[in-house]
Amino acid sequence: METRLKSQLRSYVKSIDPNDNLCDNCKVKGACCYGAFKSEDGKIYGLRSAKCKLLGKDGRCGDYDNRYSRVSGCLPIVDAIIQKAVPNECEYVKGIDGYEGKIVADKSKEKKLLKEMAKSMTTIPEYCSEDLKIFLSEYAQNVNVKKRGYYV
Ligand code: SF4
Ligand code: SF4
Repeated sequence: METRLKSQLRSYVKSIDPNDNLCDNCKVKGACCYGAFKSEDGKIYGLRSAKCKLLGKDGRCGDYDNRYSRVSGCLPIVDAIIQKAVPNECEYVKGIDGYEGKIVADKSKEKKLLKEMAKSMTTIPEYCSEDLKIFLSEYAQNVNVKKRGYYV
């Protein structure tokens, strides 16, 4: 990230009152709570199929008051902004010129990206649903077995 943008981001983040709720449950419906990873193309993608297990269909957290104790890795909004864990559509970053947040992946690309995510992970994040944990773990194991040459 360029220096100018970094400094703009720092001063913007300082100006946010964490008690202000700018969230309008934006059109991407809770995309800040989609699991994200950096793809081979250098972009950060958020995947609907890797959404946090507490995210409801309405795009809201299922246990907002206890979110940090329920899900380790749930980030306060300021940290999420700095770590590019919010999408460009987010109300909190709309005023930041040049902000490149996570891209909500097209549904058609989800499967490919999910496999890429599985390959790149060393541990399975706690926010994942049980079904997703099974998929990620089995997929990663098969890939590793293939890499070691034991797979037939
Ligand atoms: S991305 Fe931003 S506006 Fe959208 S739900 Fe998350 S915090 Fe709210
Ligand atoms: S626990 Fe955190 S990441 Fe999960 S849905 Fe709630 S606010 Fe989003």
